[in-house]
Amino acid sequence: MPTRRAFLNVATAVLALSLAAPAAAQSDRPIPVVATFSILGDMVKHIGGEHVDVTTLVGPDGDTHVYQPTPADARAVSEARVLVVNGLQFEGWLDRLIDASDFRGIRLVATEGIEPIAFDDEHDQGGSLEVHAEEAGHDHDHDDQAEAGHDHDREEHAEAATRDHDDDHDDEAHAEAGDDHHDHGAFDPHAWQSLGHAVAYVDNITAALAQADPANAADFYQNRAAYSAEIEALDAEIRESMAGLPADRRIVVTSHDAFQYFGRDYGLTFIAPQGLSTESEASAKDVARLIQQIRERDIRAVFIENVADPRLLKRIADETGATIGGTLYPGALSGPDGPAPTYLDMMRHNATTLAQALTS
Ligand SMILES: [Zn+2]
Repeated sequence: MPTRRAFLNVATAVLALSLAAPAAAQSDRPIPVVATFSILGDMVKHIGGEHVDVTTLVGPDGDTHVYQPTPADARAVSEARVLVVNGLQFEGWLDRLIDASDFRGIRLVATEGIEPIAFDDEHDQGGSLEVHAEEAGHDHDHDDQAEAGHDHDREEHAEAATRDHDDDHDDEAHAEAGDDHHDHGAFDPHAWQSLGHAVAYVDNITAALAQADPANAADFYQNRAAYSAEIEALDAEIRESMAGLPADRRIVVTSHDAFQYFGRDYGLTFIAPQGLSTESEASAKDVARLIQQIRERDIRAVFIENVADPRLLKRIADETGATIGGTLYPGALSGPDGPAPTYLDMMRHNATTLAQALTS
């Protein structure tokens, strides 16, 4: 009977619809994603758009090198479907945090597949053993964070995540001291300072989001295409602006050694009194050698960083007669009202600041 069959078909369709409804509602709800620091958080938002609910652990102007996770961080990680990390040992506190959480999602290392710059002794002339061990102390880190205007909500530290922290720190300080300050792995972690690498970051993030939320994969890949095009356009723009710099104006002094990738891409040489991590402090000998280099090579501008204490660089500028060329953003975005609220703004701001100071 056609009528009856039609009715059954409708009934089946209605049943199918009611079964599909909760699944559809679920795929429309943004998936929880945790990014370890502001640059990754921004990239995830660009790719995930409305389909992701991003929690960023180390916020604007925060120093990921010396970060200490909070109980709220452990809770966010427990709920995350995707955890996006930089890797290359940038987040030295990550394993502790994961141990303290109940994370069962996808852990994505954003630098997967890139060509990292190998650790170079020339680039890590970190401080003396005494200074270094002292620098591992928590009080000092707190002072720095307070001065840099960090999010004070985060200062309530995760007991669980940092339960063994003091002991670990002592061990680490000794291990590092015994290992010629090779404290942060075999590679420079600041790979986002290459826009070419950023395209790889974005590809990796897209693949992880598509895996976690296949229903919205098409949107992620569409967002990736648009964002990658913007990244590549900015790369071309910076390449052009840097190409005009004379050979003797290509040396840049910064606080810590965070711009090797940027230097490799655009033919600049970055030197810094501090090593690859802000955890180690420059020794008097390193500072003296840097001052000598600035005088010998007629370097006219030095740059402070948003995440670092500017006093050392100001002292170096005073002693050498160099000017402060501006503030660079090595590894954290600014707040929304600053000059670097997004990753692309940050890269553009750094390039513009450098080009202006080096040509003036
Ligand atoms: Zn750094």
